[in-house]
Amino acid sequence: MPYFSLRSVSKTYDTQPSLQEFSLNLAKGEFVSIIGESGSGKSTLLRIAAGLLTQTSGEVWLGGKKIESPAEKLVPGYDEIKLIHQDYQLFPNISVEENITRPLLNYDESYRKQRVRHLLDRLGLEPYKERLPKQLSGGQQQKVAIAQALAVEPEVLLLDEPFSHLDAIQKRKLIYELKELLQEMETTVIFVTHDLDDALWLTDSLVVLQKGKVSQKGNSKDLCEQPKSKYVARLFSAINEIPHRPSNYIRPADVRIRSRGGLVGHVVEQRFLVHYTTLIVRLREGGALWEVDDPRRSYQLGDRVYLHLDEEKVLVLKS
Ligand code: ADP
Ligand code: MG
Repeated sequence: MPYFSLRSVSKTYDTQPSLQEFSLNLAKGEFVSIIGESGSGKSTLLRIAAGLLTQTSGEVWLGGKKIESPAEKLVPGYDEIKLIHQDYQLFPNISVEENITRPLLNYDESYRKQRVRHLLDRLGLEPYKERLPKQLSGGQQQKVAIAQALAVEPEVLLLDEPFSHLDAIQKRKLIYELKELLQEMETTVIFVTHDLDDALWLTDSLVVLQKGKVSQKGNSKDLCEQPKSKYVARLFSAINEIPHRPSNYIRPADVRIRSRGGLVGHVVEQRFLVHYTTLIVRLREGGALWEVDDPRRSYQLGDRVYLHLDEEKVLVLKS
């Protein structure tokens, strides 16, 4: 019996379907990331899951209770389900501490104080508790928003690209801190993002959304090694089309550069990345451009290279 489930949820705004028959079942405390490009229906999905947007069809259930849509419920939304998005608004004229306290005003004072202290401490906000939101960086403000949402210990947390304002280092640190806290609280989490890297820092379980439909789901290893479409394959890395072999592709990391044989090409561009150099190679056969990893940084612009494919890694992909 799943704890939180979306059952065949669809949404059509005007005539254009934005979400089609989306289903997802989560156990209590389970985390999942939903990845999709902009416009794939991620925000639509989360707003329906939170009971903040009325679906065209389908149902949302939490712990044996049907979540009513705004069309069925006088005051939309539920305390048990919190949605945090990129432009989450804090109360601007009260301190960080007061912002986090606000959702707890109906609670017993000693519980309230203890809960706020705990959240300030766990999210590293203690030094900033007296400040106003505008006196914080984007990352710190986002932390306050998360602390505020977690104050009442929601059962389900829905994260709609909430880390987009943060730089990579801040983001990883926040995701790491948040993950521990959410696991401790046994919160059930759906995280949506267009960025696979972010998703992988939070969870291993992924659902890929494309034009409102699930295109594939599974853990990161399965999706990387056995993608069913180019769209899914490209989330992990570039893919090179193999000449004269329709629908066959190879990733840059699965091409070896040798001194003879294989596919011949020459290096037309070089990108120095942190762990390796990426070469752009123009193939003599057909002139296609391939991306190839050069882990030892051995090749230069203009060099002739002989490319060998790791046949076991060849991907067969539909469009
Ligand atoms: P994402 O969050 O993945 O970028 P959205 O859920 O915001 O995607 O949007 C999915 C699709 O639904 C898009 O094509 C978008 O234009 C459309 N859409 C979203 N909100 C509305 C709305 N209020 N009215 C009409 N179309 C909308
Ligand atoms: Mg969105």
